[in-house]
Amino acid sequence: MSQFRFSRRPDLGDGVRVSFEFFPPKSEAMETRLWETVKRLEPLAPHFVSVTYGAGGSTRERTARTVNRILTQSRLVPAAHMTCVDASRGQVDEVIAEFVAMGIRNFVALRGDPAEGVGARYRPHPDGYSNGAELVGAIRKQGDFDVSVAAYPEKHPQSPDFATDFDMLKRKVDNGATRAITQFFFDNDLYERYVERARRAGIYIPIVPGIQPVHNFKQVASFATRCGAHVPAWLAERFDGLQDDPQTHALVAAAVASEQVLDLIERGVSDFHFYTMNRADLAFAICHMIGIRPQPANGGSDAAAA
Ligand code: FAD
Repeated sequence: MSQFRFSRRPDLGDGVRVSFEFFPPKSEAMETRLWETVKRLEPLAPHFVSVTYGAGGSTRERTARTVNRILTQSRLVPAAHMTCVDASRGQVDEVIAEFVAMGIRNFVALRGDPAEGVGARYRPHPDGYSNGAELVGAIRKQGDFDVSVAAYPEKHPQSPDFATDFDMLKRKVDNGATRAITQFFFDNDLYERYVERARRAGIYIPIVPGIQPVHNFKQVASFATRCGAHVPAWLAERFDGLQDDPQTHALVAAAVASEQVLDLIERGVSDFHFYTMNRADLAFAICHMIGIRPQPANGGSDAAAA
């Protein structure tokens, strides 16, 4: 690995953009923690921050409340996730209109998973949008918005093959998707191969790697199994024996994710989307490692005047 040579590069951080993903809090305590996280990450001037949408629209109000708070009480650009699950086209169109009326101009459009869980068979609402591509079209029908979609470097777990996945991704682009964000992965070769295949399939939008800092190895490994992301043996070995040692676990997690991101930068990647799990520390440390530093609230005019 060449990270030591690389991390001394004076231009590290130049041209690198990050975005952060949050989930809507369920309780007052979780709301407080999310807001602390938002405020700690805000000075890093992310490109945007996104807020997930629960199965079957279960978090509709909480997602709306969270994006609205970010929009009105921070300098950040919030993106609202939306899904097609258990909702008619009319209901989904209404939710889009509500977000637009609030001032939201950035969306993450997803088909979503059935309320029974990630592995269950997906059945579209009889009068609903049946996939991510149709949802992108519905959002773009209401305006010229920024619409991100999901992409799967290891294939969507329910997809028969990569060709079907690329076909769906191409339909999303044709309907107006402006960016794809990947499911998390730990093997950068898989991502690089995926992007190459996407380009060969005529898909030219940015495909931003989704980075999952390993806050809790057991939880991340279990979620990875359900969503089709491979957990390499070397990763399991790094966290082996750290289950009851949160401090060392966090240090190793920061090192592992920084290594992954630095390697991707070396391969020419400039944008990164972090799944924060509503925690700031790992995302902040990794950003520091790649040269992203807090920006003054007024865009640096104090320093310029000094
Ligand atoms: P689609 O792209 O519509 O479909 C996924 C795949 O299924 C396709 O690539 C295709 O291979 C196959 N497929 C679909 N329809 C057909 C068909 N008719 N025939 C054959 N094959 C078909 N989930 C949430 O509930 N809330 C969130 O906020 C959320 N945020 C996410 C953010 C990111 C960045 C990512 C990567 C995932 C997120 N998810 C979220 C999970 C996502 O909803 C699931 O992965 C879901 O199973 C697929 O959604 P999609 O938009 O990729 O679906």
